[in-house]
Amino acid sequence: MLIEQIIIYGSIFLLCFVVIWFYLRKQKKTTQATVAKIEKAKQEGVFEPVSLHPVIDLGTCIKSGACMDACPEKDIIGIVNGRATLVNAAECVGHGACFHACPVEAISLVIGTEKRGVDLPHVSTEYESNIQGVYIAGELGGMGLIKNSIEQGEAAVNAIAKSLTKRGGTSYDLVIIGAGPAGISASLTAKKHGLNFLTLEQDSLGGTVANFPRSKIVMTAPVDLPLYGKIKLFDTSKSELLAIWNDALSKNGISIRENTKVEGIRSSQQMRAAQTIQENTRVQGIQIDGDVFYVHTNRGEEFVTKTVLLAIGRRGSPRKLGVPGEGMEKVAYRLLEPENISGKRVVVVGGGDSAIEAAVSLAQQNSVILSYRGDAFARVKPKNRERLETAMQDGKVDLKLKSNLVNIDNELVELAMEENGGKQAVGNDLVYIFAGGELPTQFLEKVGIQITKRFGYTMKKHR
Ligand SMILES: Cc1cc2nc3c(=O)[nH]c(=O)nc-3n(C[C@H](O)[C@H](O)[C@H](O)COP(=O)(O)OP(=O)(O)OC[C@H]3O[C@@H](n4cnc5c(N)ncnc54)[C@H](O)[C@@H]3O)c2cc1C
Repeated sequence: MLIEQIIIYGSIFLLCFVVIWFYLRKQKKTTQATVAKIEKAKQEGVFEPVSLHPVIDLGTCIKSGACMDACPEKDIIGIVNGRATLVNAAECVGHGACFHACPVEAISLVIGTEKRGVDLPHVSTEYESNIQGVYIAGELGGMGLIKNSIEQGEAAVNAIAKSLTKRGGTSYDLVIIGAGPAGISASLTAKKHGLNFLTLEQDSLGGTVANFPRSKIVMTAPVDLPLYGKIKLFDTSKSELLAIWNDALSKNGISIRENTKVEGIRSSQQMRAAQTIQENTRVQGIQIDGDVFYVHTNRGEEFVTKTVLLAIGRRGSPRKLGVPGEGMEKVAYRLLEPENISGKRVVVVGGGDSAIEAAVSLAQQNSVILSYRGDAFARVKPKNRERLETAMQDGKVDLKLKSNLVNIDNELVELAMEENGGKQAVGNDLVYIFAGGELPTQFLEKVGIQITKRFGYTMKKHR
C-alpha cells in the first residue's frame, strides 16, 4: 500500500516537475528572444514610442498573451519573464487592438512618454479650442481609434449646433476640415441638425483609414454612425468600412469636397485687429454680420463660416515640391499596396526611411530610380540602409544622389544633377514623393490654437 502511494505521489511529483521544467524552459527561451529583439529595437531607434502606444500595468497583467495575439503589427509587444513588455514601440500605429483584447484591462493607451512629449491642443469638454467657434475632434485632440473619432465628431457637432444661436444666412454655419472617421461622423451629424455646412478634405474620403498600408482593420467595439445606425465590425477590411461611409454619406446627400487642402483660417476678430476689414463689410460678395471665420484653400477659394471643426488627425499634410506636373494623377505622396504595382518605371523622391522603404518594396516588380538631393542618407534606420544597398547591388534600384526632380510630364521626368549642372530626362510611369510634411502642430500654430507638450498623456479608458 505504502509503495503504491509512493509510486502515485512520485509520478504526480515527476509529472509536475516535467511540466514546470518545460514551462520555465519555454519562458526562458521566449524571454531571451524578446530581450534580443529589444536590444535590436534600441539600436535601430524604434524602442521609444513616438505617439500613441500601450502601457502595461504589470501588477494587473495576468500573462494571458491576448495583447500579443490581437496586435496585427509585428513585435510591438513581447514577453519577458512571462509579462508583456514593449519591443518595437515606435512602430505602434495606435489602433488599440491590444487595449481591447486585454481581459483584465491592464493596458492603457498613452500618448508620448516621459522623455518624448507630444503636442496636444487645448480642448474644452465641449470640444472647443481656445478660439471661440473653432472646435477639435478625433485623433488631433489626442484620442485615437476609429470608434473614438466617430463619437467625438458627433459630440463636437452636437455642441456646435447648440452654440449656434443664429443659423443660415449668407455664410456657412460650419466648415468641417478633414474627412476621416471624425469628419465623416461630424458631417452626418451636421446634416441631422440641418446645418448649412461644408466638408473639405485635402486627400480623399476616409482619412488615415483610406491610407492604411494594409487592408485589414481591427474595430472591436460597435459604434453608432449618425443617420446610419450601428456598425459592428471585427477584423474587417478597409474597403468594407469605406463602403459603409460612402453609403451613409450618399444616402444623406452629402458630398465631401476632396483634394481641397485648407491652408489658413482667419477670424473676423483677427482681421479687425489687423484692420484689414471692418464690421459688416463685404467679402467676395458675401455680406457678413457678426464674427465669422474665413477658410482659405489651396485652390484659392475662401469660405465664410460661423464655426470651424478641425478633424485633421495627427498625420499632417505631405510637403509638395512645387514643380511643374506635380498635380498629375501619376504623382503620389503615399505608397499603398506596392504588391499591386508591377512592370512600371518609377521615380521615388526623398532621403528618409519612407522613401527608401518605398523604393525597395517597389523594386521587387518595377524598375526604380531613387532621387535624393543630399549626398548621403543621414538619419535612416540601419535595416533600411542594408536593404537599399542589397537592392542596388542586385541592380534593382538606381540611386541618384545630389539630384533634384524639376519637371514631370506624361512620359518623362527631368532630374537636375548637381554634380555636372546638367539635366537628365528619364522615362517614367509613376512618381512617389516623400519630402516630409507639415505637422498638424504647425497648422494649429498658424491658426492660433494653444498647444501644450504632454509627456505620457493617458487616453480616457474607452472600450
Ligand atoms: C496603419 C494604421 C492602422 C490603424 N488601424 C486601426 C484599427 O484597426 N482600428 C482603429 O480603431 N484605429 C486604427 N488606426 C487609428 C485610426 O486610423 C485613427 O485613430 C483614426 O483614423 C483617426 O481619425 P480622425 O478622423 O481623427 O483623423 P484621420 O483619419 O487622420 O483623418 C484626418 C483627415 O484630415 C485630412 N486633413 C488633414 N489636414 C488637412 C487640411 N489642412 N485640409 C483638409 N484636410 C486635411 C487628412 O487628409 C485626413 O483625411 C490605425 C492607424 C494606422 C496608421
